[in-house]
Amino acid sequence: MINNAPFKTIEHKGLTIEGYSRAAVQSCWRVPELKLGFDLGAQPWSFMGTGTWFVSHTHLDHVAALPVYVARRRMMKMDPPVIYLPEHAVDVVARLLKLFTRLDRGRLPCELVGTKPGDEIELSREHVVTVSATEHTIPSLGFVVWERRRKLKAEFQGMPGHKIRDLRLAGTDVTHETRFPVVAYLGDSTATGLDNCPAMYEASVLIMEITFVSSRHRPEKVRKFGHIHLADVVARRERFKNDLILAAHFSTRYHHRQIRSLVERALPGMLDDRLQLWM
Ligand SMILES: [Zn+2]
Ligand SMILES: [Zn+2]
Repeated sequence: MINNAPFKTIEHKGLTIEGYSRAAVQSCWRVPELKLGFDLGAQPWSFMGTGTWFVSHTHLDHVAALPVYVARRRMMKMDPPVIYLPEHAVDVVARLLKLFTRLDRGRLPCELVGTKPGDEIELSREHVVTVSATEHTIPSLGFVVWERRRKLKAEFQGMPGHKIRDLRLAGTDVTHETRFPVVAYLGDSTATGLDNCPAMYEASVLIMEITFVSSRHRPEKVRKFGHIHLADVVARRERFKNDLILAAHFSTRYHHRQIRSLVERALPGMLDDRLQLWM
């Protein structure tokens, strides 16, 4: 296997989360079972089979590998990918791809879809993605992937099966949709990006940034940079209902050991061992 961009992997309740994220270096995540990924700051060779991507914002550490990814899919004769990105960026990225085509002399077929807070994107019968606003230095989006199921409406529960079948055949809608947030991706944001989208706190898996962890970097200042400080997480510790919280996008100012010791000191118990430092 070609190992051009390292990443880590974790399995949780039938989903594999793969990725790597470090501020100003790269952010790139995917969930193969959901056939989607978040951000294209880098593109590990093995990720190219995933055909749908959600780009949170257009800082280079989140978007720089977009042309490379599109080119690889074409070269490997895969379908053109579908890439959702903040709507203001669509025209610029399309122009950029044209310029790369001039340099590379290779077509870059893909579908660029602009998206904005409040949008709901149907991926399949089972999965929907909702889009929320986050707070960063440039327009930036967060995404929640929901699993949906049809459930029998309360008034039909306990009714014999043949009666329900008759009702259904007569055109009565006996079911309603239930949704459960399976994966949430914050991208780059202050903690306001979490607060604005309560599903982020409820999702089974939350992928979030904690860019700054040291008290040498003042939380108020970090907020101005559009990022989360460890102190913001401590202040919200009771709100996280997630089974698994993957914290990433740490600043390169810190060493791994330093990040681990500062977080463990601030959050002893690591949110009941649900918090994992992704480095
Ligand atoms: Zn970033
Ligand atoms: Zn950013």
